[in-house]
Amino acid sequence: MNNKIEHIYEKISIKVHEFMYTVAEYFNLPLESLRHFHYQQYCIEVYDFEIHKLSMGRISQKKFWANITIVDNSAIICYNGNSTNIGRINYSIAHEINHFILGHYLDGTQFFAELVDKSSYTQQDIPKELEANIGASLLMANDDALEYHINLSMNFKSLCHEFQMSYAALRMRLVNFLTFNYGFSSLQAWHTVKNFEVDNIDLKKILSNCHLNMYA
Ligand SMILES: [Zn+2]
Repeated sequence: MNNKIEHIYEKISIKVHEFMYTVAEYFNLPLESLRHFHYQQYCIEVYDFEIHKLSMGRISQKKFWANITIVDNSAIICYNGNSTNIGRINYSIAHEINHFILGHYLDGTQFFAELVDKSSYTQQDIPKELEANIGASLLMANDDALEYHINLSMNFKSLCHEFQMSYAALRMRLVNFLTFNYGFSSLQAWHTVKNFEVDNIDLKKILSNCHLNMYA
C-alpha cells in the first residue's frame, strides 16, 4: 500500500463523502447515479460557481488544465478548452471543485492552477494538489457507482464511457478502490487493473470472491 496516498485518502474521505451525500440528497439520487456533472451543477446552483471554457494560446494550452479562483464562498473555474480529452476536462473540473470543498482556501490562498507539468508545483502546493486529485477521482466514480457497474459486468472501456473518465483516471481510481475497499496490495491492485483493462479477467467474479472471503 502506498502510505502517502492512504494517508491523503483518510484525511479527505469524510469531507468528500459528506459533499457526495449532500449532492445526492439535493438531486434525490442514489449514490451510484451521481456523476461529475451533478457536482458541477450543484456548485453552480448552490454556491453560484461560474465554470468557463477558455480558448488558450499556443503556449498556455500545453501548460495548464484548469484553475479555480475562490472568492466569498463562491468560485470561478476556468478550464483548457483546447483539450479534446473530455475525460481529462471532467476530471480537472472535479479537481478544482475539491479545492473548494476541502477548504484549501482557508489559509488565505484563493487561486489554484492545475498544471500539465507537475514538476512546476512548489513544495507548499503539492499536498493540496494531491488531495484534490484523490478527491476528484472519488467524485468521478464513487464506491457505490463502481460496485454497481462492476456488478453489471461492465468492462474497462464501458466503465470509462459510463463515468466519462480517461483511461488513466479510471486506472488510478480502480487501483485505489481495490486497495482501500478490498485490501489489495498495491502490486496486486495494479496487476488486477492491468488485466481488467485488456479484458483478461472477470472483475465482478474477483470482487464477489473477496466478499465471500470477507464474510467467511
Ligand atoms: Zn489543483
